[in-house]
Amino acid sequence: MRVTWTGGRLTFRLDPEDEITGRASDEHPVKLATNTCSVGGVPDDAHPDLFAVAAWTIVAPWTRRRVTFDRAISAGLARALHDGWGIEAGPAGAEPRPAGRTLAISYSGGADSVAAAAMHPDAPFVHFKRVPHPRVPNRWTHYRSDVLAKLAERTGRELTTVTSDLEFTLAEPRPGYPEHHAVAAGALLLADRMDLGGLAFGYELGSRWLGGDRYLLRYTPDNPMWAPHGAWGRLFAAAGVHIVLPVGGVSEAVTMRVALNSDLKDHVRWCLRGTDGPCRTCEKCLYKELIQAAVERRPLDTPITPDRPVARKWLRPPPYGGQEMVEYALARIPGVERTLFAEALDHFEATEESTSWLDHCYPPALDEIPQPWREEAAAFVGEHVGLMTGDEARRVETWGAGPDEEARSTR
Ligand SMILES: [Zn+2]
Repeated sequence: MRVTWTGGRLTFRLDPEDEITGRASDEHPVKLATNTCSVGGVPDDAHPDLFAVAAWTIVAPWTRRRVTFDRAISAGLARALHDGWGIEAGPAGAEPRPAGRTLAISYSGGADSVAAAAMHPDAPFVHFKRVPHPRVPNRWTHYRSDVLAKLAERTGRELTTVTSDLEFTLAEPRPGYPEHHAVAAGALLLADRMDLGGLAFGYELGSRWLGGDRYLLRYTPDNPMWAPHGAWGRLFAAAGVHIVLPVGGVSEAVTMRVALNSDLKDHVRWCLRGTDGPCRTCEKCLYKELIQAAVERRPLDTPITPDRPVARKWLRPPPYGGQEMVEYALARIPGVERTLFAEALDHFEATEESTSWLDHCYPPALDEIPQPWREEAAAFVGEHVGLMTGDEARRVETWGAGPDEEARSTR
């Protein structure tokens, strides 16, 4: 792979061994649509390691053996690419970039990133806004990135909005981030200007520790995407921008509760479709309504009926993505047996007691937060959430294990 940046415009050329259908770090197959994209609203004089990591978040799935950048990177960054992916990266020769002092939040406006923002009230926001690609037709006009960007502006927090068409580098399964980390491409290029030493993402317990993102549904201490010692954690750290997961130890029930109790509650929006409010009819709205109803201990409020395509997966047996939250919600929503989740209910014996570990914070997640920001996060958790007990922490650590092992751990 050969990578060239011209200002904020990235061009990449595949080497003979590269393939146009690659695999992201979560093993998802992704097919290349086009080999150019742009990132707007960023300076053109960032440290070469920042340009390299920003490019890697986009080209990694398609790169097999080597990546050649248009400017020298640091030896440490080359080593992180080699150790993490088995990739020869170069040319090397730049001085490393020291970590800055500021933590910024990669802010989407969803409940998880609002919760992360509530934990770090002084952290500036970087918001990623999708814009059309000049060479790829946009069949995704219902995706209202303009609405999300306006909501981010109204938070009153220091905000930098980065515009990018990088999601259109994907032909299949649909436009989106080639790697989850591509949402950070703009923040990386802003890191020198903002003096960034850390970038906070709203990935919660399910994504960080329960394999929820990868649908592995098992305990993943060595998660390659989000563990500090994983390939991506080490790569970001080598560029002086640590991956920080303020809500990495808490479930989506907790992030929902924190977000809805925060100053930013009027700006929370996880739906990518609605203009005046969430659409209430998409898959994401249904899943979040499940969690919100559980948190608010009220009946489910959805216009979706079991015959709708979006309801179909709930009529099939598990596993489901976010399964821990499904169990949590089914155990708490009054009258859920009369909703479209009635059939899912048959597959679980979850009770409030058996899911109460999801109301607390898994302590090792706080230990992973780099020192400059750990105390602030821990103080928030201590005041508003509470730590898991040893027994509760074992629920995390045996998640996805066979029933025997799970039974042993809860005895
Ligand atoms: Zn929706």
